[in-house]
Amino acid sequence: MIEIQNLTKRYGQIKAVSNLSFTVNKGEILGFLGPNGAGKSTTMNIITGFIPASEGSVKVGGYDIMENPKEAKKHIGYLPELPPLYMDMTITEYLNFVSELKMVDKSKRKAQLDDIMELVRISDVRNRLIKNLSKGYKQRVGLAQALVGSPDVLILDEPTVGLDPKQIIEIRKLIKALGKQHTIILSSHILPEVSAVCERVVIINKGEIAAVDTPENLSKGFGTSSKFSVTIAGPKSSVEGYIRDIYGVKYVEQNLEKEKDVINYIVESDKDIDVRRPLFFAMAKAGYPIIELKSMDMTLEDIFLHLVTDEKGVEQ
Ligand code: ADP
Ligand code: MG
Repeated sequence: MIEIQNLTKRYGQIKAVSNLSFTVNKGEILGFLGPNGAGKSTTMNIITGFIPASEGSVKVGGYDIMENPKEAKKHIGYLPELPPLYMDMTITEYLNFVSELKMVDKSKRKAQLDDIMELVRISDVRNRLIKNLSKGYKQRVGLAQALVGSPDVLILDEPTVGLDPKQIIEIRKLIKALGKQHTIILSSHILPEVSAVCERVVIINKGEIAAVDTPENLSKGFGTSSKFSVTIAGPKSSVEGYIRDIYGVKYVEQNLEKEKDVINYIVESDKDIDVRRPLFFAMAKAGYPIIELKSMDMTLEDIFLHLVTDEKGVEQ
């Protein structure tokens, strides 16, 4: 649905984006993840035809954004980093204005706007001035304007930035729901964001692609250890030794003492050896109950740091 090939963007001497290639399949929600300044907005501005690329090409729905901008743009709904809202209009006035810009058929306009406002749940505030809306509602209006004209592709640049946790959850839900009928690229510098919503992730750093994979595969692919947290009721002096003696355990460290002689440890083991069963039997035999045991799989956060610090030699 979206094909990006060898995209490069220079601002004078600065290369903001360098030789980027990836595709987004129809119906997919793709996460575009990278730290601030990585080149996310630049890439999205090029995909949507807002700025030209220095080199490379973008096709949306089979149309080249430079050669066939009108056709390509019909497929695209764009929510830029700063939504282009008019504060002195009401939601209805604003969305009508956007419909006019996007040349939505006059006869279809009302029904379409009613549907969109219902979908992003702003129907009840439709006659309020945009400047009087909360940040969360303003963002919903931003999403609504992207949906006008029924595009099948949505490009969302950091759609949850600046929202509070409750609003973030609501916008996330909304994006997931939109994903059922749209192809979506969603950018973020926050990792849980993309792992919560996206099926595949492109990690970008300093204008270059650092990895492309599913969130699950990314977390499987690195390191040689697995880590878990275990809480055991028993004196540290003997429990710690028992854990250390289990085959496959590489490292044990006391994390915190929850109450007297109830201690939480962080245990690191060889990735290929599951030490949880022997740990269970060793503790049962010694008479020290395991109160809690949970795995501490590599989070996207860890992977991200691994990719953008270790391999690239870049400090964050
Ligand atoms: P992100 O959205 O990932 O935070 P951007 O795409 O906004 O990153 O920026 C990528 C790089 O390009 C940054 O180093 C930024 O300073 C630079 N940049 C962005 N826009 C311009 C511009 N109009 N002129 C010069 N440099 C720019
Ligand atoms: Mg940005």
